[in-house]
Amino acid sequence: DPTAARRPVESIEVESDNLTYSDDALLAQYTFHSTAVNKSVDENGQAKYKVKPVEKHLEFRTERKVPKTGLMLVGLGGNNGTTLVATVLANRHNISWGTRDGIQTPNYLGSLVRASTMRLGVDDKGDDVYVPLSDVLPMVHPNDLVVGGWDISALPLDGAMRRAKVLEYDLQRQLAPLMAEYKPLPSIYYPTFINANQGERADNVLPGQDKHAHLEQVRRDIREFKQQNDLDQVIVLWTANTERYSRLIDGVNDTADNLLRAIEQSHDEVSPSTIFAVASILEGVPYINGAPNNTFVPGAIELAERENAFIAGDDFKSGQTKVKSVLAEYLVNAGIKPRLIASYNHLGNNDGKNLSAPAQFRSKEISKASVVDDMVASNSLLYKTLAKKEADSEDGFVKGSSVEHPDHCIVIKYLPAAGDDKKALDDYTSEIGMGGRNTLSIYNTCQDSLLATPLIIDLCLLAELMTRVTYRESGNQEFERLYSVLGLLSYMLKAPLTKPGKAPINSLSRQRGALEAFLRACLGLQPGSDLINFTQME
Ligand code: NAD
Repeated sequence: DPTAARRPVESIEVESDNLTYSDDALLAQYTFHSTAVNKSVDENGQAKYKVKPVEKHLEFRTERKVPKTGLMLVGLGGNNGTTLVATVLANRHNISWGTRDGIQTPNYLGSLVRASTMRLGVDDKGDDVYVPLSDVLPMVHPNDLVVGGWDISALPLDGAMRRAKVLEYDLQRQLAPLMAEYKPLPSIYYPTFINANQGERADNVLPGQDKHAHLEQVRRDIREFKQQNDLDQVIVLWTANTERYSRLIDGVNDTADNLLRAIEQSHDEVSPSTIFAVASILEGVPYINGAPNNTFVPGAIELAERENAFIAGDDFKSGQTKVKSVLAEYLVNAGIKPRLIASYNHLGNNDGKNLSAPAQFRSKEISKASVVDDMVASNSLLYKTLAKKEADSEDGFVKGSSVEHPDHCIVIKYLPAAGDDKKALDDYTSEIGMGGRNTLSIYNTCQDSLLATPLIIDLCLLAELMTRVTYRESGNQEFERLYSVLGLLSYMLKAPLTKPGKAPINSLSRQRGALEAFLRACLGLQPGSDLINFTQME
């Protein structure tokens, strides 16, 4: 069996009529249970809810063969790019290094797939049984990823790793000869999109200003990378500088056809990241945006839908925002009302340097701001619906929002001496019972790139898996691919991209719950429930 070679050991075996094993696929029967609600308000202003349980019968097909996978990073020579390559190489070659605390061995800590577990079920004594997420379905191992990509800076990755100042000297020393073999491909540089202070490193750029020629070059790069490394699949991920927002202009980036025409005409408002996204979509490889840029203008999303290609974004959710989504959820679900959230950051790496101009900072501010919106909207006991006049007032962060909102501010300052350590200070002031106040003051310091690297790995491995899962509703003949915008990757992303018109879900526990439910559904298993654990109703 030629596919067996690339199939990892499957440690879970499901004994159920709902799961059929064939040589090349897992075929799962799954009943999705949901609750349909019809809300109305009677003449006394009393809310009424008509509720109906709904069942949907689905079949999931997961290919068991794990493809040889490449990961192409845009921004390969940056702090995240070099740290990602170094992490994969150190793990692959099992390189340990000396630190002042002793010998450190490589690992994938911080990766949901490689370093976290999920509750599979209970054993015959009623005790919980946990499994690594990586064992639930056949998934690529990060040690097997072939990494490459582009950077506007030509520095080979040994030098780029040194420039990043993230990893310990003894690790850098051992990795240098391996890293030196990685040389970024020339990239697209349109100076107005990133901070002018980045110009000094831009010595590796595609010539000319012909955006269509740039698109074709990136498409060729993807194809050649695939061929040269004998790959079955490629994932492209933007971990380059944060760009300013592209202006949304009717006739330019509002539809797929207009966007393609705007690229033909080298329109000013088409950003480098949108060209990378369009190239990936046209090559049929998933494209993930790890920065807050509005890469996915409406025309890019429409193109992905039309081409049945996968996209996901925006902006890695590594530190402060992850904590914020958890805290906001805890407070609002506890019936406590956050009134004020103030977030101050300072950092000293090249990302901070790039964010020191207003247009790039604004992209980051927008991406960080929306994370509490759905929690606020979920609790009408705490946050009242506003009358139109109040909603339109300048008072408060979210102008035009129809619900009351906490005051919320985000500040980012570039202080070079902080290096790759991001220091985030947050004040959450909430209203508690009977007019009381509660202030939580959080000080969060972390090496930014060491938090982002495992997210890049998770995004890549999970996106790859999602290309191998198809589904059909019972009665339908054809299996379909998942919807183009991979919302299931929201856990790793600060401002999750959604189907146009759908609001994102920022709650970290719901994001993780959805991923677990998806993995289980592919095995024909229902989501885990704790009802029995808490009630002992055997
Ligand atoms: P970095 O500045 O060290 O790296 C970015 C790299 O991109 C640089 O090497 C730069 O030369 C290159 N670059 C710029 N424009 C390019 C282009 N058009 N094509 C190819 N390469 C280009 O930054 P970083 O710390 O690695 O962060 C990368 C991105 O990830 C930033 O946009 C940042 O906002 C985002 N991000 C990082 C984190 C984190 O925790 N590290 C969290 C969320 C988002």
